[in-house]
Amino acid sequence: MRAFTGQAFLIIGMILLTAAFGSSQTAPTPESVLGHKPGDDFYLASYDDARGYFRKIAETSNRVKLINVGKTTRGTDWEIAIISAPENLANLDQYKEISRRLADGRGLNDQTARALAREGKAIVHLDGGLHSTEVAGGQQAISLAYRLVSSQGNAEIDAILKNTIVMLWPTLNPDGQNEVTNWYRKNLGTRFEVSPLPDLYQEYVGHDNNRDGYMNNMLESQAVTRTELEWNPVIFYCQHQTAPFPARIFIPPFVEPISSNIHPLMARWLNFIGADIAAYLDAHGMPGAVHRVGYDNWYPGFLDFTHIFRNSIAFFTETALYRYATPRFYTVDEFPADQRDLRSGVFYSSPWKGGWWRLRDAVDYMEGASMAVLDMAAKYREELLFNRYQAARDNVERFRREPPYAYLIPRDQRDVPEAATLVQKLMTNGIEVHEAMKVFAANGREYPAGTWVILMDQPFSALVKELFETQHYPEIRESPNGSPIKPYDVSGWTLPMQMDVQTAAILQPVTPAQRAALRLLEKFTPPAGGVEGSGSVYILSHQANAAFKAMNQVFMAGGQVSFASGELETPDGRQTGAIVISGIDAARVSRILRDTSLVAKAAAAPPPKVAAVKKPRVGLYRAWNPIIDEGWTRWILEQYEFAPVSLRNGDIQAGNLRSHFDAIILSDASSQQIRDGFGPGTVPGEFAGGLGSTGASALREFVMDGGTLIAFNDASLYAIQDLGLPVKNVLGGVKPEDFYCSGSLLRVELQDTTHSAVAGLPHDPIVMFERGPAFETTEGFRGRILAAYPKNQNPLMSGYLLHPDRIQGKAAALEVQYGNGRVYLFGFRPQWRGQSHGTYKFIFNALYESQGLSKPGPVIPVPKS
Ligand SMILES: [Zn+2]
Repeated sequence: MRAFTGQAFLIIGMILLTAAFGSSQTAPTPESVLGHKPGDDFYLASYDDARGYFRKIAETSNRVKLINVGKTTRGTDWEIAIISAPENLANLDQYKEISRRLADGRGLNDQTARALAREGKAIVHLDGGLHSTEVAGGQQAISLAYRLVSSQGNAEIDAILKNTIVMLWPTLNPDGQNEVTNWYRKNLGTRFEVSPLPDLYQEYVGHDNNRDGYMNNMLESQAVTRTELEWNPVIFYCQHQTAPFPARIFIPPFVEPISSNIHPLMARWLNFIGADIAAYLDAHGMPGAVHRVGYDNWYPGFLDFTHIFRNSIAFFTETALYRYATPRFYTVDEFPADQRDLRSGVFYSSPWKGGWWRLRDAVDYMEGASMAVLDMAAKYREELLFNRYQAARDNVERFRREPPYAYLIPRDQRDVPEAATLVQKLMTNGIEVHEAMKVFAANGREYPAGTWVILMDQPFSALVKELFETQHYPEIRESPNGSPIKPYDVSGWTLPMQMDVQTAAILQPVTPAQRAALRLLEKFTPPAGGVEGSGSVYILSHQANAAFKAMNQVFMAGGQVSFASGELETPDGRQTGAIVISGIDAARVSRILRDTSLVAKAAAAPPPKVAAVKKPRVGLYRAWNPIIDEGWTRWILEQYEFAPVSLRNGDIQAGNLRSHFDAIILSDASSQQIRDGFGPGTVPGEFAGGLGSTGASALREFVMDGGTLIAFNDASLYAIQDLGLPVKNVLGGVKPEDFYCSGSLLRVELQDTTHSAVAGLPHDPIVMFERGPAFETTEGFRGRILAAYPKNQNPLMSGYLLHPDRIQGKAAALEVQYGNGRVYLFGFRPQWRGQSHGTYKFIFNALYESQGLSKPGPVIPVPKS
């Protein structure tokens, strides 16, 4: 050693540095690969571009490893970059295992956890955003990747690479980034350069791709949740672009209220990181960060937030956006009046003063915020890891001391496959579920063997409590007589209520003997379906949603289906409307029952009184001005194999609908959106306009001819107005301080439980009411009230409802006779976000009512007031 010269030391030093942080001289710049710098005016890189660039740097840099996280809805391969120092990448499995053990907490004590925290790396999730029209995120991901892999001798980045493992997702919605980029490129330089995308940028759910965090209905949500559970990042940071103007970026702390099921350490870190990001931006010449405006932490279903219930510090920021990559100049006189004095605030310390706002500015702010998070994760690596262990440890200990000690999901349910679906949803979220091998006695009753048991002394069970308990949205007012502060999203979502699954919270500690009789489910196995008895006719209960999927499969196989008119014995007991299947061989039936987890009762011959049904031909209105609820509806109908046909404006306006369709669905949208669509001149001509008067006449004619029109939530108002139905919305024009309910679970009562349009539903279903209408019939009404809010009782089951008296006794669901057809009006969202499984049958039955199963309703006399 002593023989080495200074120069040799320098060379060795460089070799060591290269070994430590990777050889990256050759990492290509984004512009050398893409022809543009990320954030250049009028340029957007697509997801395919980003993936191409990520592959290039993975070939040349030993700081990057690409992993495939699955396929997207449209079949794209989804790759993300794992970026860290080469020696960390060489030991990824070890660091993942440390993170997993700390996140789980069990089997560790404070000393062993401390040692692991010292040894581990802070795994950090960063991404290019999930709302594809919020375009800067994806460009930022490319820019950040280059910065991290190309830096040489930069102490900040060296510390980041040494202490953290960055999971960099080019985007959380690859399909959408490709689609938006193509749309912008097509219109660039034309008068439609900044025109809105006439499609949902996630195939089914568009912007609601951030409302699927715990339900994981979409492939993209599943990929994110699965990957987070595999890697256990301590921080999950997601990019958005809807800053409250004129602020340049919204950063946590959020506004009130916050869930009490979040571990305090996670909530504290979230605030701390938020303040740190803002300081980092100010320190790097990027003013205009604001905190505590607009966004609350109440709904747990945000894909970039759900992880906080698994003790990962999950949050988002909202950077300012003009439109796509087109720049915009702002002057102070465009600011809201109370912002023009550019006054500093406690949570807005460096007001933005206006000027140019370019895509590159948004990219810089996002990249700065990402760097701040990484810098902090590197500095506080050990504390972050140890705190995550503490959160898991505390959660396990808490539910050993206090109820609920467990939740039970018994197997005797109205709809067993849906109860199983709830179990599957929990397991997808990393929740351990057991099965009772013996009778489980609790709460003064005995639950039979086979009951699903969720023990709460597990690390992520705060999420179960969050999803299973009743929500009590706090009434917060700015002043004693002011109107209540409204939630940013919904206020109640209790999942067992939405899915119509019975669960029980266990209020006494689970004994060692009880535990010994439980079996941990290693993987989800759906209940076995099959046939009871023998015969070539099969009887299914109308209570299971899956029965409708089975029916569609029977039709596909050439079999026959009918509904029993009277009461009939089914595997779920005696009921009206039992489903009778015939004309199909036993092997095929077995396959269908296995696929749907249904049990059928075989009989030698069909029951005497049945009404044969055909597969309904379903049309679904699909506006160019995209309706998120349409996508959800399409997805659900596809899941149940109804094969809905998308109807564009022209398809409806062309008329003659009755010869092609039995039922047409209008998903939740405003009358204006359905009637007018995109305004003329705002989008290229073929996408402008809505149904207009021609479309309205065609729909009227369709129903007059015997068709069935089904309208969800606000689309009911369109149907009432444009068909001239004798129905009134009692909430029309009512001010928010006189009635408010933005997404709560309400109880309704069926008015005639024997009516075929409500077959299979419980007597008092729980519906998702989200700023919808409530109905009263007017002079000349002919039809039926299917469900109404209870007259003498507050219908609120979970969430928040201001002035329930406004809707008590009013109709929630109506069947309106119109010519030879009928219109179904639902003043709620019967398939909300693919969560309200308990009310799907309102839709499925309405589709079958198009075949005239029930007699026209009576003329309902309107009470004189
Ligand atoms: Zn967003």
